[in-house]
Amino acid sequence: MKLIIWLVILFAGWHLARRWIRRKLQQQIEALKAQQAQAAGGSAPAPVVDTVVCAQCGVHLARPEALMIGNQAYCCREHADAGPAHTA
Ligand SMILES: [Zn+2]
Repeated sequence: MKLIIWLVILFAGWHLARRWIRRKLQQQIEALKAQQAQAAGGSAPAPVVDTVVCAQCGVHLARPEALMIGNQAYCCREHADAGPAHTA
């Protein structure tokens, strides 16, 4: 009879441990998902910065860093002086 009681206690303990481990794993998975969502959200603002292409060399740069002459963008003073090279 004592053995049966011990077996029941062990069985219940095993069940509780399994439930606890499963809950911990789920929490870790949710934390990971939240981290991934945050990472995706963190890298997303990059395209918010408007990029332009230098009319002389074709390099891509952020609009605030570009030298705007009329509606042409240039990466530096030299290229602005050289004028547009791309006819696209
Ligand atoms: Zn350039």
